[in-house]
Amino acid sequence: MLDMTVIAATGQALPTTPFEGRHLIGGAWVAGSVTVDRVSPAHGVVVSRSALGTAADAEAGVAAARAAFDSGVWSRATGKARAAVLLRVADLIEANVERIALLETLESGKPISQSRGEVSGAADLWRYAASLARNITGDSHNTLGPDMLGVILKEPIGVVSVITPWNFPFWILSQKLPFALAAGCTCVVKPSEMTPSSTVMMGELLIEAGLPAGVVNIVLGEGQPVGAVLASHPDVDMVTFTGSTAVGKAISVAASGSLKKVALELGGKNPQVIFPDADLESAADAVTFGIYFNAGECCNSGSRVLVHEDIAEAFVARVTALSRQVAFGDPLHPDTQVGAIISLVHQGKIDGYVKDAVAAGAKVALGGGPLMVPGLAGQFYQPTVVSGVTPDMAIARDEVFGPVLACLTFRTLDEAVALANDAAYGLSAGVWSENVHTCLEFARRVQAGTIWTNTWMDGFPEMTFGGFKQSGQGREIGRYGLEEFLEVKTVAMRIGRTRPNWVKTH
Ligand code: NAD
Repeated sequence: MLDMTVIAATGQALPTTPFEGRHLIGGAWVAGSVTVDRVSPAHGVVVSRSALGTAADAEAGVAAARAAFDSGVWSRATGKARAAVLLRVADLIEANVERIALLETLESGKPISQSRGEVSGAADLWRYAASLARNITGDSHNTLGPDMLGVILKEPIGVVSVITPWNFPFWILSQKLPFALAAGCTCVVKPSEMTPSSTVMMGELLIEAGLPAGVVNIVLGEGQPVGAVLASHPDVDMVTFTGSTAVGKAISVAASGSLKKVALELGGKNPQVIFPDADLESAADAVTFGIYFNAGECCNSGSRVLVHEDIAEAFVARVTALSRQVAFGDPLHPDTQVGAIISLVHQGKIDGYVKDAVAAGAKVALGGGPLMVPGLAGQFYQPTVVSGVTPDMAIARDEVFGPVLACLTFRTLDEAVALANDAAYGLSAGVWSENVHTCLEFARRVQAGTIWTNTWMDGFPEMTFGGFKQSGQGREIGRYGLEEFLEVKTVAMRIGRTRPNWVKTH
C-alpha cells in the first residue's frame, strides 16, 4: 500500500449536460460550425462542448475589436466610466464564484477549494485595475522656456490579443483583461482549448456589467489557426500571452511581421534556496506547498530546491514526510489539495523526466509514478521527491510542470547564486535564512522577476509580476501592468506667436 494521503471519489453528481461554449464577437454569441468536447481530467466524462474557431472567426473577432476601439466608445470613455464597469465585473465575479469554480475544476482537474480561491481572488484584480483606470497620468514639462509647454500623454495602445493557458484560466485572464480595459484598449481573447469555459462565463459577466459590444471579443479554438491569426493580424496593436516559452517565441516571430508590441509571461524553473540558519520547519512546509500547488502545473512552481549540504539529508527527509500528508485525489472533495494532471500526454512527459533522472543516477525518495485514485477514471501523479539531482540533468533544467521536486545541494552563498542563475528561465526564486543580509544579497544577485524571502508565492495586485531571461518580457499587474497597455505621446506646444520664421522672406 502507498504511504500517501489519497482522497477517493466523492461520488458527487456531475452536471448532466456539458457547458456550451460559443464565441463572443461584436456583442453577439456565435456558435461554432465545429465543436470540441473537454473530458474532465479527473473524472473522465465530457464536461464542456466548445466552438472550435476558424481563421475567419479570429478575423471577425479582430474586426469587432478594431471597430470598437476606433469608435471611441471605450477608448475615449472617462476613467470614471471605465472604473464603474470594472467594479461591476468584480461584484459579478463574486456573485458567481461557485458556478465558475465548478467548471474550472471540472475542466482543469484542480481542487475545488483552489478554484474558489482563484475565482474570488480574481475579483480583487478587477477592483485594483478599476482604481488604476482613474489614475492614468502622463507628465508635463514647464521648463522648456517661456514660449513652450510640453505634455506627455498616455493613450490606450489599441487592439490587444489576449492568449491564455490552461493552468489558471480565470486568474491569468484577470491579470490581463482588467488592466487592458482600464487603459482603454479593446481585446480579442483566446483561452486554452482545454479550459475555455470560465472565459466564456467572463464574457457573460462583461455583458451583464454593461461593457459596450465589441470591446471584449472571445474566440475559442486552438493555437492554429486562432492564436496564430491573433498574433499576426495587422489590425492588432499588441499581443499579451501567457504560456510556454516555445509558443511565446513563435508568437514573437508571428508578431514581428507588423512589429506589434508583445508581452510574454512564460515558463520557470524556480529555485528555493535553504540556508542552515533558516526556520527549517517553515521552509519545509513552503517547499512542499511550492511543488504541489496546482499539481506543480504552475509557472511559479518551486521545482528546484537548493539545500545547504549540512542540512540536506534531514531537510529532504522532512519534505518527504510532509509530502506523504498532502491530500491527493478527487478535486471535488473540499479537503483535496492536489487534483488531476491536465492530460495523459502531459502525465507521460512528467513521468519521462523522473525516469530519465533515475537513469542518470538520481534517487526517488518518494513517488515516481502515476497515482490510482479509487473510483476515478482520470490521470493523477504521485507526490514525487527526487534527490541526488545534478545541475546538468533535464529534471534540474526543464520545466517539468508536475508534482516532482528536484533536490540539489550547495556549500556557499556564491554557489547558491550560481546554481540559481544556471537556468534559461528567470521567473521567481526564494531564499530561506534568518539572516537578513543573506536574504538581501541573494535577492539582489539572483536573476528573477520575483524573489520571496522566507515565504513562497505570496502575491498582491499591487506587486508587479514577470520574468527575466526566457521567462518572458514585460510585466503584469501592479502599476507596471497597466503601463504595458499604454502608448506614450509627446505634445510640444508653442505658446503665443513667437516662433521665429525659418524662411527668410525677401
Ligand atoms: P501553451 O504555450 O501550450 O499554450 C498557451 C496558449 O497559447 C493556448 O491558448 C494555446 O492554444 C495558444 N497557442 C498555442 N500555439 C499557439 C500559436 N502558434 N500561436 C498563438 N497561440 C498559440 O501553454 P500551456 O500548456 O497552455 O500552459 C503551460 C505553460 O504556461 C507553461 O510553460 C507555464 O510555465 C506557462 N505559464 C506561465 C505563466 C507566467 O505568468 N509566467 C503563468 C502560467 C503558465
